[in-house]
Amino acid sequence: MVEVKVDTLELNMYIDGQWTKSSNNDMRSVINPATGEEIARASEGTVEDAKKAIQAARNAFDTGVWSEVPATERANFLLKVADKIDEHAEELARLETLDNGKPLREAEADIADAAACFRYYAGIVTKPDGETYHVADPMQAMVVREPVGVCGLIVPWNFPLLMSVWKLAPALAAGNTVVFKPSEVTPITPTKLFEIFEEAGLPKGVANMVMGAGNIVGDAITESPDVDMISFTGGTKTGKHIMKKAADTMKKVSLELGGKSPNIIFADADFEVAVDFALFGIYCGAGQVCSAGSRILVEESIYERFVNRFAERAKQIKVGSGLAEGTEMGPLVSQQHLEKVLNYIEIGKEEGARVICGGNRITENGYDKGYFVEPTAFVDVDQNMRIVQEEIFGPVAVIQKFRTEEEAIQLANGTKYGLAGAVFSNDGTKALRVIKKLRSGITWINSYHPTYNEAPWGGYKESGIGRSLGTYGFDEFQEIKQININLQVEPVQWFEK
Ligand code: NDP
Repeated sequence: MVEVKVDTLELNMYIDGQWTKSSNNDMRSVINPATGEEIARASEGTVEDAKKAIQAARNAFDTGVWSEVPATERANFLLKVADKIDEHAEELARLETLDNGKPLREAEADIADAAACFRYYAGIVTKPDGETYHVADPMQAMVVREPVGVCGLIVPWNFPLLMSVWKLAPALAAGNTVVFKPSEVTPITPTKLFEIFEEAGLPKGVANMVMGAGNIVGDAITESPDVDMISFTGGTKTGKHIMKKAADTMKKVSLELGGKSPNIIFADADFEVAVDFALFGIYCGAGQVCSAGSRILVEESIYERFVNRFAERAKQIKVGSGLAEGTEMGPLVSQQHLEKVLNYIEIGKEEGARVICGGNRITENGYDKGYFVEPTAFVDVDQNMRIVQEEIFGPVAVIQKFRTEEEAIQLANGTKYGLAGAVFSNDGTKALRVIKKLRSGITWINSYHPTYNEAPWGGYKESGIGRSLGTYGFDEFQEIKQININLQVEPVQWFEK
């Protein structure tokens, strides 16, 4: 396997407009998951660092350096950032692949989406954003939107830049100040984004980045009375922890969490299209995608044919370093995550499920230093197995059989999650009927995965609270205030003189 060497980068935090080392000078190694080699060293933030960042964001918000500038000025900043992302797209994509492991073509799409997200919110922020109501004379009622204040933004490692941007673009557009924490596993492109913010002239203290462990820095942000809101993307377990902690200071929370999403394939679907999207649904991003179609539900009459064709094609997927030409699926993000996914494969076998493709770590021909797993699928599963109920977050699908529309819906809704789901059928009425029954926030008919800045992203049930993207995602970062104006100023005379 050919791997490109890079000089080790040094990454620091960005607090109150300064590039800052950790208060105790600790650094953490950042690893290329394709080779196991160190590619960067990142400052490992402390509670003290988090507090400094929170204070800087608080001061910047309270002095109005960002919330009080005209919306057009904030829009211009977002547009400048988008242009700079485009300018550096090649470098950003390469760094994303080195850090996360995803194939370059996936990283390139993420970088383009990140620039588009800044442009989208640059447009939204200059549009009308209030309401007036005709209430009892002489009163005039109006509703205005205001920034929430200091927002704590915490993101995972699977889309290091894009997940950061889904939060930073709307939060900054709305006039908030932020304390942002990337995953300790993938801090490289988020740091580059903060370099871009600096170049684009963001006033100091408006956007602060603290690195470090979730249970130290993340907790410090969530607990702080000076933080008004937490917007978090990550695992459901962490989301629950954050929600409980945030309750002590009654913070607003927005949580984008895990999933175990069903992909329902009816016998009347276009067979090859359905197989193709089923592969894309689970193996894109090596399955490390919150909305991955990890439960494939197939109608009985085409089940055997589907399983055979799916396995045949899964075995042909080219797994390798994200930078190598022709790679279709990269490694898992870390040694720790590799162990988690391999452990789930063992659990599946112990539960009595049958592997029809993959099922192993790849170690030959120089792959042994990286965290590669074969595209894997299980059959002979039943609904209460752990591999059906729990999020594996790797290239592991379960393929289940259903007989009726009702059974498909029941199986599809039969987990604690409710993030995404799809239906493949050439009967449009049936497809829509089934989609409407899914308890999921993101759905597709005859497709899987595409999503757009305009449309809200988020889950039902234990997949989260609130929405990212679209106008709904913008609303999350705003408070709503009613203002009642008396147009005839005279005493109310409720009490006698
Ligand atoms: P985690 O929940 O482990 O971590 C996510 C982020 O939370 C990281 O920055 C992590 O920090 C931080 N964190 C960890 N503990 C705490 C804490 N106590 N307080 C505050 N922050 C904390 O998830 P993963 O990084 O493993 O990401 C994978 C998960 O993210 C999957 O479940 C996936 O489904 C979900 N996800 C959901 C999406 C959605 O839109 N619904 C999109 C993408 C992913 P650190 O890593 O530095 O310790």
